[in-house]
Amino acid sequence: MSFASLGLSEELVRAVTERGYTEPTPIQAQAIPVILKGGDLMGGAQTGTGKTAGFTLPLLQRLMAKPVTGKHFIRALVLTPTRELAAQVEESVRLYGKHLPLKSMMMFGGVNINPQIKQLHGRVDILVATPGRLLDHLQQKTVDLSHVEILVLDEADRMLDMGFIRDIKRVLAVLPKQRQNLLFSATFSDEIKLLADGLLTNPALIEVARRNQTAELIEQRVYPVDRERKRALLTQLIKDNNWFQVLVFTRTKHGANNLADHLNKEGIPAMAIHGNKSQAARTRALAEFKTAKLQVLVATDIAARGIDIAELPHVVNYELPNVPEDYVHRIGRTGRAGSEGEASSLVCIDEKKLLHDIERLIKREITVVQIPGFEPDPRIKAEPILNGQNRGGGQRQGQGRGQPRSGGQPRSGGAPRTGAKPAGGASRGGVPSSAQHRSGGRGR
Ligand code: AMP
Repeated sequence: MSFASLGLSEELVRAVTERGYTEPTPIQAQAIPVILKGGDLMGGAQTGTGKTAGFTLPLLQRLMAKPVTGKHFIRALVLTPTRELAAQVEESVRLYGKHLPLKSMMMFGGVNINPQIKQLHGRVDILVATPGRLLDHLQQKTVDLSHVEILVLDEADRMLDMGFIRDIKRVLAVLPKQRQNLLFSATFSDEIKLLADGLLTNPALIEVARRNQTAELIEQRVYPVDRERKRALLTQLIKDNNWFQVLVFTRTKHGANNLADHLNKEGIPAMAIHGNKSQAARTRALAEFKTAKLQVLVATDIAARGIDIAELPHVVNYELPNVPEDYVHRIGRTGRAGSEGEASSLVCIDEKKLLHDIERLIKREITVVQIPGFEPDPRIKAEPILNGQNRGGGQRQGQGRGQPRSGGQPRSGGAPRTGAKPAGGASRGGVPSSAQHRSGGRGR
């Protein structure tokens, strides 16, 4: 199937061809015709599926189909949970719209508002924004959303997780009633369904699996190690295997900073990105990482949302996430666009239950690799993971995301991989459930 056969205009097909795409991804093949017809859409798709082009391409075409003369207004609004995602979506809008006269703008908090106000005085057809800053502009009356024809809520589940529901509702209240609505979400929780019910009219429902879930391009490994020896093991793994472009996930901002400092002391260029860093520092870290000047980027889940680096070779879970779905999000950063990737998890005794939940969700056991010299000490007992209390601030407001959802079958449903065995022969699931406290930190 070609992009042209989906009904896209020559300018858009030329832009995607120049970008190197030869065929639409499944979400693109399904979503583009629906959006071109003007209908509402509820898309179940995560980052990595090609969803951004899936909504951006038809959105651009619809705006072009009804050119305006005279005064220009904002005609399409894309809301995203994070600054990084806003920046990326807006970059995609510019890229795919490069042969069109439409103008886009990104808007997020943490930076001076005045340049944004100035930009809003000029022509903006497509606004990509995070909800908080958009509300600031609405309150100051520096943005006019009264001519929005198309609304996109990207990663709606994340926006709800991050507590943006009231902000979103306030924005919805000022939009024209008559408009096209597109909602994308990785999960369909009750909250998302409620939001969708109030927002969408006869929506087409499209759900696609992550590309990597079907493509099996990610080599996943678990490295058993004691809590206190994780730093040494990570250093050794990076040095021995000569890993470059390693994205390392920690649970907390504090942990991210500490780990980046440690790696730098070991001669491995590393930087931490999280919500406490200035926008300039985050942008610089990302740019250096993308060009491979920076060997390791240490990130928290929320800061890492939307990091789009094609063909990222290594993702490391320095600590397993509390929410199993986040594991899938994290490792989705690797093995993209047909290239192979490696996802390594350093797992200590405290995390056995988390590992078990992840394996249930992905319906497979992850291969265990024991690095000699790092065998866990059997005398060490599991300790509760108290996010945000003893480790300097947690990451998210867990709101109803703790249960394995679709696909949360018992492990017996999946074929164990060759060579898979329980770590160190220890039984899994030995951590009391009270160990999985969630923090209330927003972590941005
Ligand atoms: P997204 O899910 O929108 O974040 O896209 C994930 C990655 O897939 C990005 O790096 C895109 O540039 C890439 N991508 C999107 N559409 C295609 C396509 N049709 N063929 C190949 N790569 C694509």
